[in-house]
Amino acid sequence: MMRQTITTCHELRAHLSLWLDGELDATRCAQAQRHLAGCPACRNLADTLRQMLALYRAAPRAVVPAAVHARLAQIFELKGNGDG
Ligand SMILES: [Zn+2]
Repeated sequence: MMRQTITTCHELRAHLSLWLDGELDATRCAQAQRHLAGCPACRNLADTLRQMLALYRAAPRAVVPAAVHARLAQIFELKGNGDG
């Protein structure tokens, strides 16, 4: 199994949904938090994504605006590169 580290913005974004779901292992969780602490852009994105996920889960799919849906899909697309 390959160990991926989270140092760059791209890596963080690729793991963001896992992190928000609490599915990241402790090591990468700490790396993600360290990145977020020093990167306002990713922190902002994490906040937005957290809100969108809450909305997404609370509301039926039809209620979520198409733009939000597209943005979510775009963010989740990024994690397609991982080894799983
Ligand atoms: Zn970043």
